[in-house]
Amino acid sequence: MIKKTLLALSITTLTMTTSLYASEKASHEKHWDYGTNNGPTHWEEFSGTCGKGIHQSPVNILAGKTLKMNHAYDLTMHDDITGLAKVIDNGHSIKVTPEHGGHINLHGEIFDLLQFHFHGKSEHTIDGKRFEMVAHMVHQNPKTKQLAVVAVFFEEGEANKVLEKIINNIGSTVQLDPQDFVPLETAHYYHYVGSLTTPPCSENVQWYLLKKPQEASAEQIKHFRKFYVDNERPVQELHDRFIEAN
Ligand SMILES: [Zn+2]
Repeated sequence: MIKKTLLALSITTLTMTTSLYASEKASHEKHWDYGTNNGPTHWEEFSGTCGKGIHQSPVNILAGKTLKMNHAYDLTMHDDITGLAKVIDNGHSIKVTPEHGGHINLHGEIFDLLQFHFHGKSEHTIDGKRFEMVAHMVHQNPKTKQLAVVAVFFEEGEANKVLEKIINNIGSTVQLDPQDFVPLETAHYYHYVGSLTTPPCSENVQWYLLKKPQEASAEQIKHFRKFYVDNERPVQELHDRFIEAN
């Protein structure tokens, strides 16, 4: 009799352990994406900030309603560094991580380039318009850890040499200069403070959106969209923020 009870107990324990393991496994497998079940309207389940934050990105920029740039946010970027960069498909985008990416200067503060990645259409819109593609160049201040993202818009036109290198080398390492992406004209941009556009949607991110777009050929845009076509978060409310421009 005692033996039987013990056996029953151990079976119960075993079942509990198994179901605990199964639910843990399921929660690990649940991952954010751009679809219906785990897409942007569900991102709050992955990080509360995505739903509750009031300084979120991307946003729509009304070009006629911007403020004059505060010089405390001036951006300088011209730092040619050619080196090796790893190109990966991380499940959300094509991401490029250079060994030494160079840096930008924001009114005397240095931010290092950590990585850049692409969205199949631009996430920020200008007067409601989406660009064909966008590159987000993610920089970080090594002292304060604050992030600054420089967005380079792409419109359809001539083939882009760096983009060609990247889309043909997904999964390997290439030699490139991240600054080759950046248009020669970087003196004009929009600036505001927002967030990461993917979970955890962390705020206090400095956004710099270069006004001058780069070009990519129709074939390149098509090629990129074989990987990612709809990896854009919908635009978020501005709330109490304003956009500066120069
Ligand atoms: Zn991005």
